[in-house]
Amino acid sequence: MIDEKGILFVLSGPSGVGKGTVRKELFKYKTDLKYSISMTTRDIRAGETDGVDYFYKTKQEFESLVEQNQLLEYAQYVNNYYGTPRAYVEETLASGHDVFLEIEVQGALQVKENFPEGVFIFLFPPSLEELKNRIVYRGTESTELVRNRLKEARNEIKLMDAYDYVVVNDQVDHAVGKIQSIIQSEHLKRERIARQYKKILEDEIS
Ligand code: 5GP
Repeated sequence: MIDEKGILFVLSGPSGVGKGTVRKELFKYKTDLKYSISMTTRDIRAGETDGVDYFYKTKQEFESLVEQNQLLEYAQYVNNYYGTPRAYVEETLASGHDVFLEIEVQGALQVKENFPEGVFIFLFPPSLEELKNRIVYRGTESTELVRNRLKEARNEIKLMDAYDYVVVNDQVDHAVGKIQSIIQSEHLKRERIARQYKKILEDEIS
Protein backbone atom coordinates (compact mmCIF):
# COMPACT_ATOMS: atom_id res chain seq x y z
CA MET A 1 0.00 0.00 0.00
CA ILE A 2 1.42 3.36 -1.00
CA ASP A 3 1.46 5.80 1.87
CA GLU A 4 0.32 8.94 0.08
CA LYS A 5 -1.99 11.63 1.42
CA GLY A 6 -5.34 12.12 -0.28
CA ILE A 7 -6.11 15.21 -2.34
CA LEU A 8 -8.46 17.91 -1.10
CA PHE A 9 -10.92 19.04 -3.78
CA VAL A 10 -12.95 22.18 -3.15
CA LEU A 11 -15.98 22.99 -5.28
CA SER A 12 -17.18 26.54 -4.87
CA GLY A 13 -18.79 29.34 -6.83
CA PRO A 14 -21.49 32.00 -6.69
CA SER A 15 -24.75 31.38 -4.88
CA GLY A 16 -27.39 29.87 -7.13
CA VAL A 17 -24.88 28.44 -9.61
CA GLY A 18 -25.88 24.85 -8.80
CA LYS A 19 -23.00 23.63 -6.60
CA GLY A 20 -25.26 21.34 -4.57
CA THR A 21 -26.88 19.79 -7.65
CA VAL A 22 -23.53 19.16 -9.33
CA ARG A 23 -22.05 17.69 -6.15
CA LYS A 24 -25.03 15.35 -5.64
CA GLU A 25 -24.81 14.18 -9.27
CA LEU A 26 -21.05 13.61 -8.94
CA PHE A 27 -21.63 11.36 -5.93
CA LYS A 28 -24.24 9.28 -7.78
CA TYR A 29 -21.37 7.69 -9.68
CA LYS A 30 -19.03 5.18 -8.10
CA THR A 31 -16.25 7.23 -6.54
CA ASP A 32 -13.47 6.94 -3.99
CA LEU A 33 -14.04 10.57 -2.96
CA LYS A 34 -15.13 11.21 0.61
CA TYR A 35 -17.67 13.99 0.95
CA SER A 36 -17.13 16.17 4.00
CA ILE A 37 -20.53 16.78 5.60
CA SER A 38 -20.79 20.37 6.77
CA MET A 39 -22.24 21.83 9.94
CA THR A 40 -24.97 24.42 9.68
CA THR A 41 -27.28 26.43 11.88
CA ARG A 42 -29.98 26.65 9.22
CA ASP A 43 -33.23 24.73 9.62
CA ILE A 44 -33.42 21.24 8.24
CA ARG A 45 -35.40 21.14 4.95
CA ALA A 46 -37.92 18.53 3.88
CA GLY A 47 -36.12 15.49 2.50
CA GLU A 48 -32.89 16.22 4.39
CA THR A 49 -31.37 14.00 7.06
CA ASP A 50 -29.19 15.04 9.99
CA GLY A 51 -25.72 13.55 9.56
CA VAL A 52 -26.25 12.97 5.83
CA ASP A 53 -26.93 16.37 4.29
CA TYR A 54 -25.56 18.41 7.18
CA PHE A 55 -24.92 18.20 10.89
CA TYR A 56 -27.56 20.61 12.18
CA LYS A 57 -26.37 22.73 15.11
CA THR A 58 -27.76 25.54 17.23
CA LYS A 59 -26.03 28.90 16.99
CA GLN A 60 -24.53 28.32 20.44
CA GLU A 61 -23.21 24.88 19.54
CA PHE A 62 -21.72 26.25 16.34
CA GLU A 63 -20.02 29.17 18.07
CA SER A 64 -18.54 26.83 20.63
CA LEU A 65 -17.07 24.66 17.82
CA VAL A 66 -15.53 27.82 16.34
CA GLU A 67 -14.01 28.72 19.70
CA GLN A 68 -12.54 25.24 20.05
CA ASN A 69 -10.96 25.61 16.60
CA GLN A 70 -12.83 22.54 15.40
CA LEU A 71 -13.76 24.04 12.05
CA LEU A 72 -11.41 24.22 9.10
CA GLU A 73 -13.40 27.15 7.78
CA TYR A 74 -16.76 28.72 8.40
CA ALA A 75 -18.87 31.48 6.96
CA GLN A 76 -22.12 33.26 7.52
CA TYR A 77 -24.48 32.94 4.61
CA VAL A 78 -28.03 34.39 4.56
CA ASN A 79 -28.04 34.72 8.37
CA ASN A 80 -26.84 31.19 9.09
CA TYR A 81 -23.48 29.66 9.85
CA TYR A 82 -21.95 26.96 7.67
CA GLY A 83 -18.65 25.25 8.43
CA THR A 84 -16.37 22.31 7.66
CA PRO A 85 -15.33 19.95 10.49
CA ARG A 86 -11.52 20.07 10.69
CA ALA A 87 -10.86 16.59 12.15
CA TYR A 88 -12.77 14.70 9.44
CA VAL A 89 -10.89 16.45 6.64
CA GLU A 90 -7.44 16.09 8.21
CA GLU A 91 -7.90 12.46 9.25
CA THR A 92 -9.41 11.37 5.93
CA LEU A 93 -6.62 13.00 3.91
CA ALA A 94 -4.01 11.46 6.22
CA SER A 95 -5.54 8.01 5.65
CA GLY A 96 -4.91 8.45 1.92
CA HIS A 97 -8.45 9.26 0.76
CA ASP A 98 -9.50 12.25 -1.29
CA VAL A 99 -11.89 14.68 0.36
CA PHE A 100 -14.48 16.75 -1.46
CA LEU A 101 -15.87 20.02 -0.08
CA GLU A 102 -18.80 21.90 -1.57
CA ILE A 103 -18.82 25.30 0.08
CA GLU A 104 -19.47 28.98 -0.59
CA VAL A 105 -16.66 31.31 -1.63
CA GLN A 106 -15.67 32.96 1.65
CA GLY A 107 -15.09 29.53 3.16
CA ALA A 108 -13.15 28.35 0.11
CA LEU A 109 -10.72 31.25 0.53
CA GLN A 110 -10.13 30.24 4.16
CA VAL A 111 -9.46 26.64 3.09
CA LYS A 112 -6.95 27.93 0.56
CA GLU A 113 -5.02 29.64 3.35
CA ASN A 114 -4.81 26.39 5.34
CA PHE A 115 -4.48 23.99 2.40
CA PRO A 116 -2.81 25.83 -0.49
CA GLU A 117 -2.06 22.41 -2.03
CA GLY A 118 -5.82 21.73 -2.38
CA VAL A 119 -7.46 21.74 -5.79
CA PHE A 120 -9.90 24.61 -6.11
CA ILE A 121 -12.69 24.36 -8.68
CA PHE A 122 -14.89 27.35 -9.45
CA LEU A 123 -18.34 26.50 -10.77
CA PHE A 124 -19.33 29.28 -13.11
CA PRO A 125 -22.82 30.25 -14.32
CA PRO A 126 -23.42 30.19 -18.10
CA SER A 127 -24.30 33.88 -17.72
CA LEU A 128 -25.42 36.24 -15.02
CA GLU A 129 -28.86 36.38 -16.66
CA GLU A 130 -29.17 32.64 -16.36
CA LEU A 131 -28.08 32.90 -12.76
CA LYS A 132 -30.75 35.49 -12.09
CA ASN A 133 -33.44 33.25 -13.57
CA ARG A 134 -32.36 30.35 -11.44
CA ILE A 135 -32.47 32.43 -8.29
CA VAL A 136 -35.80 34.06 -9.14
CA TYR A 137 -37.46 30.81 -10.21
CA ARG A 138 -36.64 29.18 -6.94
CA GLY A 139 -39.70 31.24 -6.15
CA THR A 140 -39.37 31.13 -2.40
CA GLU A 141 -37.57 34.40 -1.81
CA SER A 142 -38.52 38.07 -1.65
CA THR A 143 -37.36 40.49 -4.39
CA GLU A 144 -35.11 42.16 -1.87
CA LEU A 145 -33.40 38.88 -1.02
CA VAL A 146 -33.04 38.00 -4.71
CA ARG A 147 -31.46 41.41 -5.37
CA ASN A 148 -29.02 40.89 -2.50
CA ARG A 149 -28.13 37.43 -3.73
CA LEU A 150 -27.39 38.78 -7.22
CA LYS A 151 -25.17 41.52 -5.83
CA GLU A 152 -23.38 38.91 -3.77
CA ALA A 153 -23.03 36.68 -6.85
CA ARG A 154 -21.37 39.47 -8.89
CA ASN A 155 -18.86 40.02 -6.11
CA GLU A 156 -18.20 36.31 -5.85
CA ILE A 157 -17.40 36.02 -9.56
CA LYS A 158 -14.59 38.51 -8.99
CA LEU A 159 -13.07 35.94 -6.67
CA MET A 160 -12.40 33.47 -9.50
CA ASP A 161 -8.68 34.35 -9.48
CA ALA A 162 -8.02 32.21 -6.41
CA TYR A 163 -9.03 29.00 -8.21
CA ASP A 164 -7.17 26.35 -10.21
CA TYR A 165 -10.05 25.35 -12.50
CA VAL A 166 -13.23 26.93 -13.84
CA VAL A 167 -16.16 24.72 -14.84
CA VAL A 168 -19.17 26.32 -16.53
CA ASN A 169 -22.38 24.77 -15.29
CA ASP A 170 -24.23 24.83 -18.61
CA GLN A 171 -25.50 21.28 -18.09
CA VAL A 172 -25.11 19.28 -14.92
CA ASP A 173 -23.78 16.15 -16.64
CA HIS A 174 -21.20 18.19 -18.58
CA ALA A 175 -20.02 19.90 -15.41
CA VAL A 176 -19.79 16.56 -13.59
CA GLY A 177 -17.77 15.05 -16.46
CA LYS A 178 -15.33 17.95 -16.29
CA ILE A 179 -14.92 17.62 -12.54
CA GLN A 180 -14.26 13.88 -12.94
CA SER A 181 -11.56 14.75 -15.50
CA ILE A 182 -9.97 17.24 -13.10
CA ILE A 183 -9.88 14.61 -10.35
CA GLN A 184 -8.30 12.07 -12.67
CA SER A 185 -5.72 14.56 -13.98
CA GLU A 186 -4.70 15.59 -10.48
CA HIS A 187 -3.97 11.94 -9.68
CA LEU A 188 -1.80 11.66 -12.79
CA LYS A 189 0.39 14.65 -11.97
CA ARG A 190 4.04 13.90 -12.41
CA GLU A 191 5.18 14.93 -8.93
CA ARG A 192 2.53 12.76 -7.28
CA ILE A 193 3.45 9.67 -9.34
CA ALA A 194 7.18 10.34 -8.83
CA ARG A 195 6.68 10.53 -5.05
CA GLN A 196 4.87 7.20 -5.11
CA TYR A 197 7.65 5.51 -7.13
CA LYS A 198 10.33 6.91 -4.85
CA LYS A 199 8.44 5.57 -1.85
CA ILE A 200 8.22 2.10 -3.42
CA LEU A 201 11.96 2.11 -4.15
CA GLU A 202 12.79 3.27 -0.61
CA ASP A 203 10.59 0.53 0.85
CA GLU A 204 12.45 -2.04 -1.27
CA ILE A 205 15.78 -1.12 0.36
CA SER A 206 14.65 -0.80 3.97
P1 5GP B 1 -27.87 25.47 1.48
O1 5GP B 1 -28.43 26.18 2.68
O2 5GP B 1 -28.64 25.80 0.23
O3 5GP B 1 -27.71 24.00 1.71
O4 5GP B 1 -26.39 26.02 1.26
C1 5GP B 1 -26.13 27.38 1.14
C2 5GP B 1 -24.68 27.62 0.76
O5 5GP B 1 -23.81 27.17 1.81
C3 5GP B 1 -24.23 26.87 -0.49
O6 5GP B 1 -23.54 27.80 -1.31
C4 5GP B 1 -23.28 25.82 0.02
O7 5GP B 1 -22.26 25.54 -0.92
C5 5GP B 1 -22.71 26.53 1.23
N1 5GP B 1 -22.11 25.62 2.21
C6 5GP B 1 -22.51 24.36 2.54
N2 5GP B 1 -21.70 23.85 3.47
C7 5GP B 1 -20.76 24.78 3.73
C8 5GP B 1 -19.61 24.84 4.61
O8 5GP B 1 -19.28 23.91 5.33
N3 5GP B 1 -18.89 25.99 4.60
C9 5GP B 1 -19.19 27.04 3.81
N4 5GP B 1 -18.39 28.10 3.86
N5 5GP B 1 -20.25 27.03 2.98
C10 5GP B 1 -21.02 25.92 2.94
